Amino acid sequence: MTEKHPDIVVIGAGVMGLMLSRELAGAGMNVTLVERARAGREASRAAGGILSPLEPWLAPEPITTLAAWSQTRYPGIAGDLEGETGLDVEWIRSGMVVLEPERPADAEVWAAAHDLVIRNIGAEAMGDIAPEVRAAPALWLPHVAQVRNPRFMDALVNSARAKGVRLLEGAGEASVVTANGGTDRVAGVDTEMGRLVTDRVVITAGAWTGRVLERVGAEVPIRPVRGQMIHFKVEPGTVGHIVQHKGRYVIPRRDGVVIVGSTVEATGYDKGTTKRASEELAAAAADMVPALEGVPVEGHWSGLRPEAPGGVPMIGKVRQTTGLWMCAGHFRNGITIAPASACLTRNLVLGETPCVDPMPYDPALRLKPR
Ligand SMILES: Cc1cc2nc3c(=O)[nH]c(=O)nc-3n(C[C@H](O)[C@H](O)[C@H](O)COP(=O)(O)OP(=O)(O)OC[C@H]3O[C@@H](n4cnc5c(N)ncnc54)[C@H](O)[C@@H]3O)c2cc1C
Repeated sequence: MTEKHPDIVVIGAGVMGLMLSRELAGAGMNVTLVERARAGREASRAAGGILSPLEPWLAPEPITTLAAWSQTRYPGIAGDLEGETGLDVEWIRSGMVVLEPERPADAEVWAAAHDLVIRNIGAEAMGDIAPEVRAAPALWLPHVAQVRNPRFMDALVNSARAKGVRLLEGAGEASVVTANGGTDRVAGVDTEMGRLVTDRVVITAGAWTGRVLERVGAEVPIRPVRGQMIHFKVEPGTVGHIVQHKGRYVIPRRDGVVIVGSTVEATGYDKGTTKRASEELAAAAADMVPALEGVPVEGHWSGLRPEAPGGVPMIGKVRQTTGLWMCAGHFRNGITIAPASACLTRNLVLGETPCVDPMPYDPALRLKPR
């Protein structure tokens, strides 16, 4: 590869890198997005695509802020992507039933404070709203939507390219190059395809962000947390809404595909799947929706969530190195909060007024120099 001089290099093409690159290119920057393997194939593809924290009233306020901002933009983003790429990402406001919720009284207070409706439903209302779901004390969250995230990733890739982002897939483990071998200033990015010379770099490498930042002497408390998922294929309409019970959930797609997730496992960078998890997820699905009992499992996969402390992402400048930013650590909510995270990162890189208060996400408060 001949040496290029992009205005900015983004490292890692998951939902974060793709959305951010698309934003920066839209602002007129010459962006190169560097991906180790294939774009949109890691956590962002493995995800379920629920556009809400699982029990949003239990989420930390900084997550609520990013989720609320993003939720209002999603219909527009889905429409723009369809217009730009012809791909329908299936943004659907399917609503979510939460069975036997934790702290249900807090849910109603939280909903009122955030101008949302959460309804406590008994057996009779459940029969009206979601007759396929087993009767149990439950909350109904009609505002919750979903996207079909594998298709969302494909649309983001096509849209980023159409907006002029230079996407380098199969570039190997990219690393930040600093000026004069120190850690003061960014000078470029090394890839297996050669060196990119630039004075601005953003790291959006998901669960691998710590590995990239280690090279510039910063210790990042982001760890991989494995999540396994399965899917069934049933008659469309068998399941009408997202259903959730104690961290396990069922997500119905329009064509009868039903996604069931997910495990939460500290297995390092191991992305394997286990028979036990598949059986447990199938049992959890049948417990929530009895019609899913005995339906054969058609697919089984896993992904590595990037977990920052408290599940709150780290977004902003890596203080000790001029020209270096990060946007990572979105844990279980990366699809939900990607639009606000990408917007905030863009604002910080370009010196614009931030779309949300950047303080709760500032890496300076959580990064340790080594
Ligand atoms: C099973 C499961 C279910 C989930 N369900 C939901 C859900 O329903 N709703 C929701 O909001 N969130 C969900 N999530 C969380 C969400 O998927 C993540 O928070 C989000 O995808 C993280 O996006 P990312 O771009 O930071 O990371 P990733 O998608 O992992 O992307 C990081 C990219 O960086 C690349 N990379 C890493 N190192 C380098 C390097 N050195 N050089 C070049 N490239 C590099 C990787 O190859 C990868 O492509 C789920 C996650 C899992 C695993």
